[in-house]
Amino acid sequence: PFDVLVVGGGPSGATAAVYAARKGIRTGVVAERFGGQVLDTMAIENFTSVSYTEGPKFAAELENQVRQYDVDIMNNQRGAKLTRDDESGMISVDLVSGAQLSSRTVVISTGARWRSMDVPGEAEYRNKGVTYCPHCDGPLFKGKRVAVIGGGNSGVEAAIDLAGIVAHVTLIEFDSELRADQVLQRKLRSLPNVEVLVSSMTTEVVGDGTTVTGLNYKSRTTDEAHTLELDGVFVQIGLLPNTEWLEGTLELSARGEIVVDEAGRTSLPGVFAAGDCTTVPFKQIVVAAGSGATAALSAFDHIIRTDVP
Ligand code: FAD
Repeated sequence: PFDVLVVGGGPSGATAAVYAARKGIRTGVVAERFGGQVLDTMAIENFTSVSYTEGPKFAAELENQVRQYDVDIMNNQRGAKLTRDDESGMISVDLVSGAQLSSRTVVISTGARWRSMDVPGEAEYRNKGVTYCPHCDGPLFKGKRVAVIGGGNSGVEAAIDLAGIVAHVTLIEFDSELRADQVLQRKLRSLPNVEVLVSSMTTEVVGDGTTVTGLNYKSRTTDEAHTLELDGVFVQIGLLPNTEWLEGTLELSARGEIVVDEAGRTSLPGVFAAGDCTTVPFKQIVVAAGSGATAALSAFDHIIRTDVP
C-alpha cells in the first residue's frame, strides 16, 4: 500500500506528489492525463519566478520534477471509486482499468473543465481569441473589444475585471436577467465601457482563419440575428469539477466541488483534496500548486498521528 496516493496529475497533484515524496514516504500518482489543464494552455505569464512559459513545456517540467523522486506514476489511468474502511482507516481507489490501489491517505486533485458553448467557431478559435480565463488572458486584449458570455457571478466579475483593461466589453446573457449578485450587477452597470445584452443566444464565433473577428448572436425575444465585431470572447458559463466519481462518497458543494477546510481536509478522515476540484477559491496554477502542498503536508501530518494499520 501507499502512504500517500495522489489522484490527478495537474499542478496541484504534481506539487502534492513532490511534497509527499520529499518526506520519504511511499507515494503514488494516478493521472488520466499528466499535466492537466495546463496542457491546453498557450502562454503562462502569472506563475511567479517563471516570467513566460507555455502549457506543454510547463506540464513536461511538472512531470520531470516528480520523476526526480521515488514516485510511482500511473499515467493514463482513471479513478472510478473511492472507499474507506472505517475499521482500519485504509483507503481504496478503484481504477477504470479494474485495478485497485490501497493507501493510508489520498490526495484528490482531479481538477475541473470549462463548460463550452458548443457553437461553430468556438473550438476552432480556442486560444486564438476564444478563452475561458480572464485572469490568464485579460492582458492579451488590452485596448481591444471583447465579449463575455454568461451573466452569473463569474461572467459579471470577468466583465468588471476586463473593463479596466480592454476598450469595450459586451456581456451576453441567455436568460432575461443576470444571475450575478446585486452588488456585482450595480458595479457592472456603473462602468461606461460595458454593454449588457440579455435574452441573447450566441450562435457562432467568427474569425479570419487565424483569429477571432466577431461573434454572431440571436435575440431570444425577437429572433433577430446580430453580429458584433470584436477580438476576444471570454466564455464564463461554468467550471465543472471532475468529481462525478466521488458522488455519495464525501461532501461536495452544490456545484460539485469537494468541500475542504483550510488544511485541505475533506469530510473523510485521511482523504485530502486540492486545486480546481475543491472549494478553494480562484482557479489558478499557483493557487492549485499551493493547495497541493497544503494537502500533502496535511496527509503527512495525518500519517504521523495515526498508528500503522
Ligand atoms: P487540472 O490541471 O485540471 O488537473 C487535473 C488532473 O486530474 C489531470 O491530470 C487529469 O487528467 C486528472 N484527472 C481528472 N479526473 C481524473 C480521474 N477520475 N482519475 C485520475 N485522474 C483524473 N491558470 C493560471 O494560473 N495561468 C494561466 O495562464 C492559465 N491559463 C489557462 C488556460 C486554459 C485554456 C485553461 C483551461 C486553464 C488555464 N489556467 C491558468 C487554469 C489552470 O490551468 C488551472 O487552475 C490548474 O491547471 C488547476 O490545476 P489542478 O491540478 O487543480 O487541476
